[in-house]
Amino acid sequence: MKRIIIALLVTLAAAAPAQEPGPADALWPLYQQGDFDAVIRQGKELLISGEETAQVNLAVGRALADLGQWAEAEVFLRRAADLDATGKTWVYAWAYVYLGNAAWTGGEPDAARQAWILARDAGATPNATRAARMNLVGLGLDESFASWHRFTTDHFAFLFSDRLVDLDRTVYAREHEEAYAAISAWFGGGPEQPIRFIVWADQDEATAAGMPELGFARPELNLVHCLVQQTVGHEMTHVIAVAARQPTVRIGLINEGTAVFHDRTGRDRLAVARRVLAAATTEAGGPLPPVALRALWDDWSLLPAGVSYPLAGAWVERLVEKGGREKFLEFFRDQSREHARQVYGADLEGWIDGFEADLAR
Ligand SMILES: [Zn+2]
Repeated sequence: MKRIIIALLVTLAAAAPAQEPGPADALWPLYQQGDFDAVIRQGKELLISGEETAQVNLAVGRALADLGQWAEAEVFLRRAADLDATGKTWVYAWAYVYLGNAAWTGGEPDAARQAWILARDAGATPNATRAARMNLVGLGLDESFASWHRFTTDHFAFLFSDRLVDLDRTVYAREHEEAYAAISAWFGGGPEQPIRFIVWADQDEATAAGMPELGFARPELNLVHCLVQQTVGHEMTHVIAVAARQPTVRIGLINEGTAVFHDRTGRDRLAVARRVLAAATTEAGGPLPPVALRALWDDWSLLPAGVSYPLAGAWVERLVEKGGREKFLEFFRDQSREHARQVYGADLEGWIDGFEADLAR
């Protein structure tokens, strides 16, 4: 449910530490501003004029990588790492973080793993070390998983905690394959590769490994981290839905509501939503004010997750009941309330009012 910040996608935040002045000094401010084209243009001019340093290569390589031009990025990143191979400073470490990202993106997990291990073991700067380490752990590549159980089915590459000694992994896998079949049929597709599905024994185990609160899905990485007792369908729904429908606007109420709707628990969603709403209190201990679905649609942070998730699941169920699957999938690609109005027309406002009345009943 919660989103992890895997360093694979946030290395942008890493600044160059203070150091000797050099030809790359003009590039880093541009990089920090996100002006990657300028970094590439000016960096290449420096290289052509003979001002070749590891840093200049790194700046150009990172800018290319951030623009998704991985193949060209690799040339500069490799050069940066080679030029700094003796010192193994932050330049070397970040070059290998990015070389790992390039390899991962290119579908070469073994090469990615090797690059991130080099970056991590250089121990050059806390940010690069952490980025490499979190990629290794987040993607299930770290040495600490060596004793975990791995196996792959048609649609999942499972990785089970070695502490789950009593878990029947065959049954677990079968249940997940059955859910996958149903959910992917509903969405009309799924990811091309098996979902990397990492199953932890409990939150303490995950926390000790540096992971955030579980579970969560990263559809763009085809990745799920979950606790063993989570519902079968929730996290895989995030991955399947994005692969099948490629939504351009994702909104918490609909995105999470859809995952709850497909969690395969068979719960009475409206009854659950009513119950959690009745039991919920404000931080001051008083009753929650009446829930305005329109407000929650526009601001997903309005309610605590324990209340908002069941409510979202009940609402998505209602939307599917009222408008049907086809319309829902049409709406799903842009999950904003404006788009819902376009797709569902004038009926929508009455459905919302009716849903709120049912919740309060
Ligand atoms: Zn979720």
